Amino acid sequence: MARVYLTTTLPYVNDKPHMGHALEFVQADAIARSRRLMGDDVFFNTGTDEHGQKIADKALAAGKDPQTYTDEYAETFKALKEKLNLSYDAFIRTTDPAHKAAAQEFWKRCAAKGDIYKKKYATKYCVGCELEKTDSELDHGVCPIHPNMEVQVVDEENYFFRFSKYGDALLALYKSESFLTPHFRLNEMVSLIEKEGLQDFSISRLKSKMSWGVPVPGDDEHVMYVWFDALINYISTLGWPDEAKFSEFWREGETIQFAGKDQVRQQAAMWQAMLLSADLPPTKHIFIHGFIFVDGQKMSKSLGNVIDPLDMVAKYGTDATRYLLLRHINPFEDSDVTWAKFDEWYTANLANGLGNLTARVMKLAQDNLTQPVLFDAGAFSKEYSDALGGFEFNKAADIVWAKIQALDQRINAEEPFKLVKSDLEAGRRVTAELVHELAVLSYMVIPLMPATAEKILTAVRTNKKPDNLFNRLA
Ligand SMILES: [Zn+2]
Repeated sequence: MARVYLTTTLPYVNDKPHMGHALEFVQADAIARSRRLMGDDVFFNTGTDEHGQKIADKALAAGKDPQTYTDEYAETFKALKEKLNLSYDAFIRTTDPAHKAAAQEFWKRCAAKGDIYKKKYATKYCVGCELEKTDSELDHGVCPIHPNMEVQVVDEENYFFRFSKYGDALLALYKSESFLTPHFRLNEMVSLIEKEGLQDFSISRLKSKMSWGVPVPGDDEHVMYVWFDALINYISTLGWPDEAKFSEFWREGETIQFAGKDQVRQQAAMWQAMLLSADLPPTKHIFIHGFIFVDGQKMSKSLGNVIDPLDMVAKYGTDATRYLLLRHINPFEDSDVTWAKFDEWYTANLANGLGNLTARVMKLAQDNLTQPVLFDAGAFSKEYSDALGGFEFNKAADIVWAKIQALDQRINAEEPFKLVKSDLEAGRRVTAELVHELAVLSYMVIPLMPATAEKILTAVRTNKKPDNLFNRLA
């Protein structure tokens, strides 16, 4: 038995959950479920990132104190557990007292290492990104991602993290192909380190200007910069600095982080350097997913083309939404979707595909077999587990759907509905084989669509045709 630790990034609670969040949660959940089925001991973390100026500003605009504001938003993210049937073990909030204590302890360890120092500096800062911006990153003084927000000038004495010290150590980490998937996402970071070197980054804010953060240990005038605090959730969720669970899952286990392609710097560089500074092991695998576009464009409220994951759940149901995200979103590249495409995939592959096959086979079994078909589907094929292990969710699903297609073809070729009338024994034999194959492929469906797989497996165990698995779209 292996120990596996999985975590998503923590959504920043300045807006409701979007497709990128849903995609990342479902991807991590599919891996968590598959590893549990393989007998591994899994710890699956998610939660919410709740500090920083953007939250403070949003709360103020809403006329709420930041804690009340974040409490409300944390609930909208917690609601996804049921909506997407997520099997996470921990939902950490960066405003949890234990997390704040861990962040302060982490700070002390980096400081003891000589990696934190105070410096007076002036910089431009985009609150939208919660990141410092150089002039070259701004377009006529405006952040290109947040053209409606004023870029702030920060001119104060802050604490800095000695990021520049860790360039070589990070390059050594990046040499391993398995550190980050897909590996090409590291190219930009590698060339930045090799050509320019890393710049130390500011890790505190003056409390007098921005108080919504974790207090810096030993300095009442400063709070931690939101990223420095937030990244530590990945280990505070394991109870760190207490060693019990941390040692089992982070030191000895297989650690896997899920993140979007805009997170390479934070997850693969900043966080890894912080871990090295605190003398803690780096993450073993980071999986980076692409972005989802609608009809070739970025989703935006102003374009009115936003696809809300909760609207998908309302239209297609939980499992079908999971299926659409896992199979029809390319795990590594950007993907383009539309409601029309979702409808088409739903109808072709779920209603007419898996749903119809299950109905045909189980009707045949219910009418002609005298007892349930016994099956032992206790292991994934190597091809299937390799696809999931490599985060190729679409390929894993393709393997299942190839089996569905093969069963449909066999039914069409051998016509068991007619065979049971002309030769009952032969018809029963074919039926039993079809049921067995259905059970085997349903076992592979568990990580992708857990409730659907369970319905089919129950149908097989009881030799009873289940209710319609996927309703026709209106
Ligand atoms: Zn910005």
